[in-house]
Amino acid sequence: MDAKVHADTGLMMDAAGQLQRRPRILVVDDQAIHIHALYQALSEDYQVFMATSGEQALAVVANKQPDLVLLDVVMPGMDGYEVCRRLKADAASRDTPVIFVTAHTDETAETRGLEMGAVDFISKPINGKIVRARVKTHMTLKAQSDLLRHWVYIDGLTGLHNRRHFDEALSNEWSRALRGNKPLSVVLLDVDFFKRYNDLYGHQAGDDCLRQVAHTLATVIKRPGDVLARYGGEEFVCLLPDTDFSGAMRVAEQLGQQVFAQQIDHAESTVTPFVTISLGVCTHMPNSPGSAAALLQGADAQLYQAKSQGRHRTCGAVLAAQ
Ligand code: GH3
Ligand code: MG
Ligand code: MG
Repeated sequence: MDAKVHADTGLMMDAAGQLQRRPRILVVDDQAIHIHALYQALSEDYQVFMATSGEQALAVVANKQPDLVLLDVVMPGMDGYEVCRRLKADAASRDTPVIFVTAHTDETAETRGLEMGAVDFISKPINGKIVRARVKTHMTLKAQSDLLRHWVYIDGLTGLHNRRHFDEALSNEWSRALRGNKPLSVVLLDVDFFKRYNDLYGHQAGDDCLRQVAHTLATVIKRPGDVLARYGGEEFVCLLPDTDFSGAMRVAEQLGQQVFAQQIDHAESTVTPFVTISLGVCTHMPNSPGSAAALLQGADAQLYQAKSQGRHRTCGAVLAAQ
């Protein structure tokens, strides 16, 4: 394999020089001899973690987030079935494939394991070749489903997050802001006279323009926790946790200035000869009423104000009591 592994982090660099995390496997068995055999079979290709009890297995999963778990069925204390049940009941580990490793491969045991959400069974004594082949198959399937899950939340044109991601983030951040008594701000923005842009320069140029706008917005929205998404068409949205009204207005003004500073020609715009955006800001302050939906509607109403007051500007408001 022409990949270089970084010893401390387990990160792997592929042939193209991209950093990738080396896939992680957790091996759970109360007997050292089985752990040893599995380690021998897998340690060349994977970062292998070990646990000798069900309780320890759950702790390692929480800490290390392995990509796959090889799980002994019969263990003193918490057995493999119970470990599997708990992993499948927890949203954080639900998608981690579990393969049972067992000496007793009777039909009932296997059916029970599969019904509990295991993806496969491997029998003891361990055959290194079979273990490697099965693990590789399930690792590939896991990587593919992770990739699909990732793309479901990405906008294909710009590479930004999409509306689905934003809607989920808004709901989560709304709850978090209430719990923590923190302000939460939304900035909604829309390209000015974009229909005319398409009509004059063509749809392909329109797409290029949206990509450039997205890229410019991303240079401003870079605080961890902030979310920038394409909301649809030529409309973008930012979610700014723990950001008060004046902070959000500053971010919005900066977004507007940076897009204007790109000087993307727009001969049909009546505001400036360049592409501009209009922005609407709305902030929810701690201990005031409202809802996530009202916050977004507030930003939309402010965007409408910015459009009707002449475009290429920002309007904002604090979310008022309904
Ligand atoms: P306003 O200043 O009031 O926002 O005017 P506008 O022309 O930008 O707004 P309108 O909603 O009338 O038109 C939006 C245009 O954006 C129409 C649509 O063809 C274009 N558009 C939406 N999504 C895309 C896209 O993905 N690519 C391209 N090239 N154009 C898009
Ligand atoms: Mg527009
Ligand atoms: Mg629009």
